[in-house]
Amino acid sequence: MADDNITITFNCGKCRTQLSWPDDACDSTEICCKQCGERAGTYGELREKGTEAARKEVESMLQKAFENWR
Ligand SMILES: [Zn+2]
Repeated sequence: MADDNITITFNCGKCRTQLSWPDDACDSTEICCKQCGERAGTYGELREKGTEAARKEVESMLQKAFENWR
């Protein structure tokens, strides 16, 4: 594998701008698009989605690794 890093990014549902949040964001911090102001949800909600996406990515990576291994 060339790149083991899993990068999860979130984009605004309206204008597709990549969302960012402060380092000290907590679960109840509202994340809004810097470009158009669209509310993306709370940091906790996004983190949950990100965790789920990362889990799926790891699963598919493992699956591929085992397919090659056989
Ligand atoms: Zn936006």
